[in-house]
Amino acid sequence: MNENLNNFLSNLKKKNPGEPEFLQAVEEVATSIISFIESEPRYKNTKILERMVEPERVIIFRVPWLDDKGEVQVNRGFRVQMNSAIGPYKGGLRFHPSVTLSVLKFLAFEQIFKNSLTGLPMGAGKGGSDFDPKGKSDNEVMKFCQSFMTELYRHVGEDTDIPAGDIGVGNREIGFLFGQYKRIAGSFNGVLTGKGNEWGGSHIRPEATGYGLIYFVDEILKTKNESIKGKTVIISGSGNVAQYAAEKCIQNGAKVLTLSDSHGFVYDPNGIDNEKLAFIKHLKNDEHGSIKEYATKFGCEYFEGERPWRIKCDIALPNATQNELNEEDAQLLVKNGCICVAEGANMPCTPEAVAIFLKAKIFYAPGKAANAGGVAVSGLEMSQNSQRYSWTRAEVDMKLKSIMHEIHEQCMKYGKEADGYINYERGANISGFVKVADAMLAQGIV
Ligand code: GLU
Repeated sequence: MNENLNNFLSNLKKKNPGEPEFLQAVEEVATSIISFIESEPRYKNTKILERMVEPERVIIFRVPWLDDKGEVQVNRGFRVQMNSAIGPYKGGLRFHPSVTLSVLKFLAFEQIFKNSLTGLPMGAGKGGSDFDPKGKSDNEVMKFCQSFMTELYRHVGEDTDIPAGDIGVGNREIGFLFGQYKRIAGSFNGVLTGKGNEWGGSHIRPEATGYGLIYFVDEILKTKNESIKGKTVIISGSGNVAQYAAEKCIQNGAKVLTLSDSHGFVYDPNGIDNEKLAFIKHLKNDEHGSIKEYATKFGCEYFEGERPWRIKCDIALPNATQNELNEEDAQLLVKNGCICVAEGANMPCTPEAVAIFLKAKIFYAPGKAANAGGVAVSGLEMSQNSQRYSWTRAEVDMKLKSIMHEIHEQCMKYGKEADGYINYERGANISGFVKVADAMLAQGIV
């Protein structure tokens, strides 16, 4: 292994004890770009990577709130302001019991490259809480969001840091957070994205991550003169990203075989159609029900405690959460003839799984490229807010498509290998890095 890389990684470990997810994300990037950095004289002696892995600022705060029984609850709130070289901090908020500083630092780090790839002027941030909205009443979620924003509001702003949703933070939570921000700051502005359409939100924002993922898969398949039409697709997850990815697959003539939640997955060999998908949307959005009910209603198989990776498919879309697809799963996918794995979630494939895909030379699209459609439309929401204007659905969709096309071009620029294989991991990492690194250098030692 490269000596510089070794030293860099061992220092990183020493400086960030107890942060396995963060170390995993940085190691993945560092390994794939170190030789590029060393080959470019302008990065010599700049400590550019050491600077990039250190967040500009981390805010950790107490979030006390009263539950419906009148009991006091205490959660921990975070905002990681990672990098502002190319624009104000931008990235989602995650409310989930698994949230730790390590998880949010990994997500904020990924966001640097993802936001840079969109071509829009957005820096990187991420935040959230260990609060679990599951099983809470609307009133409890509102109380929590109000308390969370009562501290967060002083650290964010339309020109400084613009949060959005992520796991556990959807339209309802953004509404409560925005309402509280407006009361305290006394200003109606674009401080959050993912807002409702009637109050400053953008068309296509709810669909953007899922649709963008399928636009990216289309770009990949185009390099082989193929399309998604007629292909079989397995999807994990059943939240926002999974739902709209499935919707776009169905629209484009692909057959979606699976969806999942944290308890298991459903396998529908006849394909999930629009009507069945509408049932899932209703189940998840209105009743927070389990995917198992799909199997009962439509008479197909449900696999408790399992993920869908052993189902034969052309395309696999891990859309649930980090590290949900491991080495063994990757081996099965390759063995069963899968030609493309594209990440709708952030870092869902373990490093060992990614190594299997790259070795087998099947297409592997990392989340920072493939799922950038979500934050890209957030960027478009910011533009519309600044203009006090609103684009049509068709206009936003067209811009999203063209951004995904451009991201694909950038991945090809640094990722195309001599034999024609496109290493999207390397391509996305280098392209994302160059823009931010050069902006940092231009701004001095900051
Ligand atoms: N949470 C999403 C992501 O992982 C979207 C962030 C945003 O819209 O700011 O990119």
